[in-house]
Amino acid sequence: MRSLALSRSNYGPPYTGMDAILIHLPGGPINGWFSGCNSVSRFSKVVTVHNFMNILFVLAHNDDEYFCALRMQEEIRLGNQVFIAYLTYGGIQAENPDVRISESIKVLRKFGIDETGMLLIGHRKSIFDLHLHERSVDACQDLDELLKNTAIERIYVMAWEGGHPDHDASHMIGVAFARKRNLQSQIYEFPAYSRFHVMTPLQTSSALLTTKASRMDALKTLASGFSYKTQRRTFIAMLPGSIVQLLVFGYQNYWRVPDERNYRNPPHAGRLFYERRFKISFQEFARNLRALGSLTSGDR
Ligand SMILES: [Zn+2]
Repeated sequence: MRSLALSRSNYGPPYTGMDAILIHLPGGPINGWFSGCNSVSRFSKVVTVHNFMNILFVLAHNDDEYFCALRMQEEIRLGNQVFIAYLTYGGIQAENPDVRISESIKVLRKFGIDETGMLLIGHRKSIFDLHLHERSVDACQDLDELLKNTAIERIYVMAWEGGHPDHDASHMIGVAFARKRNLQSQIYEFPAYSRFHVMTPLQTSSALLTTKASRMDALKTLASGFSYKTQRRTFIAMLPGSIVQLLVFGYQNYWRVPDERNYRNPPHAGRLFYERRFKISFQEFARNLRALGSLTSGDR
């Protein structure tokens, strides 16, 4: 009979995506010779199999999956269940919200993800584009409610970078969720855009996950940008930066969100991109996000 033995304790620290499971192949009499040994015999074969981890991506808009698509594809390839929370709906250019959602669904399907993992919180709670910083508690509570029976083991959030207020608000909601579930060691951030760069981190930390994507994955991700017909102008503006990150570097880095970050301070010195573009000051943003409480205030 086939037996399974984990390469380390079944109940130890969270597995990384690359954890291998040692499978003792049925070896008949040969396996029988080693039946008294606890160690894995040389007749065992090491293979990588999925761990069925539940992974959560916390996003602001229907199209933000573009910025973490390589990692999503990698998680799916590892056999993990991917949940994607979208915390707003609609768009300030009067885009049809249903069209934006269907654009996301279409792109996710290209990456091998079906819509059952989509948590359309913005749509459920009527949190419109650009207003997440005013509705952070509603979004956070709904995320908790939708996942109350689901053990999430790793979280990806949009980086704290001052590009779009909804991105930074979704970051803080993801951090609050992680802290409530004691998942600080398993929360990673990925960049979208800031005043300085596209898809390039402003801040780094000591822990890093690197996605090693194939050129085909990178090309597929870049091409998916053209599927967002309602956001064409934005994606064209980001195209040069996207090409550099996806096709020249061919990978994306995910840095662990540092515990010591103080969210009372803006992501960087000087005027933030969203302050200039959307006329929302960091002071207003931070005042509204205080509603999330000490989970993200830096007072812990
Ligand atoms: Zn966005």
